[in-house]
Amino acid sequence: MAPLDPHSFSDSTNPPTSDVSLSLYFDFPSATIHGVAFFILAFPYAGQLSFDTRSLTIHQVLSPNDLSPLPFSLSSSPDPIKGTQLSISLLPEDDDTAFNSFFIVFSTSPSSTALQWLCPPQTFNKKHPFVYTQCQSIHARSIFPCQDTPAARIRYTALLNVPRELSAVMSARHVGRRPPVSGEGHSHLLPNGFNSLWSSETRVVEEFLMNQPIPPYLFAFAVGELGSREVGPRTRVYAEAVDSVLDAAAKEFAGTEEMIRQGEKLFGEYAWERFDLLVLPPSFPYGGMENPRMVFLTPTVIKGDASGAQVVAHELAHSWTGNLITNKNNEHFWLNEGFTTYAERRIVEAVQGEDRAILNTGIGWKGLKEEVEKFKDNLEFTKLKNNQEGVDPDTIYSEVPYEKGFQFLWRIERQIGRPAFDEFIKKYIATFKFQSIDTERFLKFLKAQVPGIEKDIDLVLWTEGTGIPPDAYEPVSDLYTKILSLANEFKLGRMPREDEVADWRGQEWELYLENLPRVLEASQVLALDERYRLSESKDYEVKVAFLQLAILSKCRNFYSEVEKTLKEVGRMKYLRPLYRALVQGAGKEEEKILAKRVFAEARECYHPIAQGVVESILAKHI
Ligand SMILES: [Zn+2]
Repeated sequence: MAPLDPHSFSDSTNPPTSDVSLSLYFDFPSATIHGVAFFILAFPYAGQLSFDTRSLTIHQVLSPNDLSPLPFSLSSSPDPIKGTQLSISLLPEDDDTAFNSFFIVFSTSPSSTALQWLCPPQTFNKKHPFVYTQCQSIHARSIFPCQDTPAARIRYTALLNVPRELSAVMSARHVGRRPPVSGEGHSHLLPNGFNSLWSSETRVVEEFLMNQPIPPYLFAFAVGELGSREVGPRTRVYAEAVDSVLDAAAKEFAGTEEMIRQGEKLFGEYAWERFDLLVLPPSFPYGGMENPRMVFLTPTVIKGDASGAQVVAHELAHSWTGNLITNKNNEHFWLNEGFTTYAERRIVEAVQGEDRAILNTGIGWKGLKEEVEKFKDNLEFTKLKNNQEGVDPDTIYSEVPYEKGFQFLWRIERQIGRPAFDEFIKKYIATFKFQSIDTERFLKFLKAQVPGIEKDIDLVLWTEGTGIPPDAYEPVSDLYTKILSLANEFKLGRMPREDEVADWRGQEWELYLENLPRVLEASQVLALDERYRLSESKDYEVKVAFLQLAILSKCRNFYSEVEKTLKEVGRMKYLRPLYRALVQGAGKEEEKILAKRVFAEARECYHPIAQGVVESILAKHI
């Protein structure tokens, strides 16, 4: 028994599954998916096999030859982080053979943590239900049983059986949409009579294929009344079928092809054929999720300025750094997000210019300093490589792997020069593509490619040390310096003049607000809003930075706007700071009551991952 990953029951002595084919029946009235999964092992095996599950019912495990039942057991009580261990006995009766495949028949439950089921009133059109996934970091196991660790990459095929008036998309190649055929795929093994409902006239089958091996956290689908617009030769933007939403999205993301071309120049050929975008309902818990072939996005990135495109640049950058080369487990998450933040800023610099890239870096620098301060009682999570034994990755999610990881790579770039670093990255991607690696492998490769680097940069301090190393670097540019000096002048009582902010976009305001003192006089907050109407900004980055300042300054005039915001979006980037500002610190009785009431009322609108994160913030402080 040798665990591979602190967040998985997978065992290194077990063969990884190389392929899975799924037949999934979506039952919207009960918010349940009934499924059959056919697994192929990387090599024949006889013995006990461990899989991860969470909130799943396992009906049967079946032998591939004669469909005879194979013994299995589930751990008696679920681990609060890892879920329930499924142990399968692959012990052939005939001693000479071993198993190289098997079936699992299962059902999800409405409490599956990867899935958000929206009823019609929660959608734009209010006519049809909608369901979508978010599997990172360890939620794929709540959709189908699997070795839910990025160390085990899988290829898959999927038949999604959904109501005929809906359509499905996946982070995979769309093979086709057609009327269901009785018994097709493995649907004849479905439980509870769903095998015969499969071919009902009211249903349709959408078929998908992912023939490039992906870590399970990149498994993704959405089902609803979807529409689309073409925005480039390999890019279509999807959203709920509402013309205004689709038109705004198509306009916002019109520059996507140019970004892909710049990415290819920097990092090599785009490997995933298509780069489609799916704009989800406002409850989507992240800014974006880099699901291969189809990135999932929050609608809050559609705001008609450059920063929405920067989220797309980030998710696009994952096509090389992250999806091609993944961290072996979440303890090395910086290899995924630090590299991607670096790659994102190089794409932004190429497409939007250096000033925009520096503003982006500056916002990140401020964020890193704040995160390190926030973890001052738990410095482990200010390390790039850290110990996550017994730790829920969702509760320690922070900007550290993104921004400290970025700073580390930027430090190496400064040391060896950009041309040499560009060559290094291209070689790194070509060497490790479609693999999942750890920090040690990265360092070994770095030292081999750049002999003597450890004499110039303290690699151990950067990867294993806490806090921000002394040779990290705050960016410089005229625009960045100007914004910071205006924020400093506010402390002396001077608000920026209208001509000084006339051409500011969201990012300038965000940087300005984040560099103001954390607590102001209520009168100053009111004066700032009276002049610049920040509480009404259509840009949530600006609005949330302002509302956070208002809460910390106890300027209660804005609490109704805080409540409205917490009820209309479910992106954790906004929920975290607002709930935290409401409940953290002394003398917050009124704010705590507000936070509890708003959460009770808004809870159902949040994705289960966001529900869990807000719960843990409230539990810590109330
Ligand atoms: Zn990312």
